[in-house]
Amino acid sequence: MSWSTLKTEAIVLTSEPFREADRMYTALTPDNGKVSFLGRGARKGKAKLAAHLEPFAIVDIEIVRGKRSTTVISVERIKGFANIRESLDKRLLIQTSLSLLNKHTREHDYDPCLYAELLDWLEFVDSQFSVTPVRATFILGSFALRIMRHLGYDVQLNDCIQCKQKVMPLSFRWHADKGGLVCSDCLSEKPEEWFSARPIREEVVKLLRFARGAGYPDLLKPSLLADDLDAYARIVHDLMVFHLPVDSDVPFWAGVLEDKERQLEQANTEQSA
Ligand SMILES: [Zn+2]
Repeated sequence: MSWSTLKTEAIVLTSEPFREADRMYTALTPDNGKVSFLGRGARKGKAKLAAHLEPFAIVDIEIVRGKRSTTVISVERIKGFANIRESLDKRLLIQTSLSLLNKHTREHDYDPCLYAELLDWLEFVDSQFSVTPVRATFILGSFALRIMRHLGYDVQLNDCIQCKQKVMPLSFRWHADKGGLVCSDCLSEKPEEWFSARPIREEVVKLLRFARGAGYPDLLKPSLLADDLDAYARIVHDLMVFHLPVDSDVPFWAGVLEDKERQLEQANTEQSA
């Protein structure tokens, strides 16, 4: 917060037109968290500046804080992610994840892990694989679970959220509001306290655990059943609604899917493949 000029590595999260000729950007930096700044003339004339401020790259920026606004004065591209830029599905996936990250982080929230996570995520999506909407929903959910963990909203998938004992297979329910699994002992002890806990299948819990803990490349391995993926996506959405500071009605997968039908169709194709 104390800087007046900042030269830093950054990943641009969002950019929108601002007034007649400018653009407003947000970017994540390793040491200064999220910053927002103005690109003067970025919509005309100084196209070079704008071209380097595209979101699928790591850039070096210099920004200056003035009386009225913070402005970018230089940009240099360090690394571009060509595979992301060239694939519409991957662009959609990354755009959705970047705007998700932007929406749920506040400026000057300092968290170096968040930057490292984003870098890992970009490197992964840029690697060689083709992404189906089903797989995109799964891996985007995984990114969301990790982001939530970095922001301090970790979901409890191994121990009971009440008694902290390890939950046994087939003897638990799910409580989105309290953020995790509750064991059958606690359920029967105070049923009135847990009335909104609902059943969750073992397979879905396993999928959630895997999505949160596995290395990104391993997320391409499991076959995804339509029912499990559907339950998984709803749970991740509920967690975001309950536990992230910014509420959103739009499900996280909306950006990568045209509609539900397509999602289910794809799941069935993957299943039979
Ligand atoms: Zn318990």
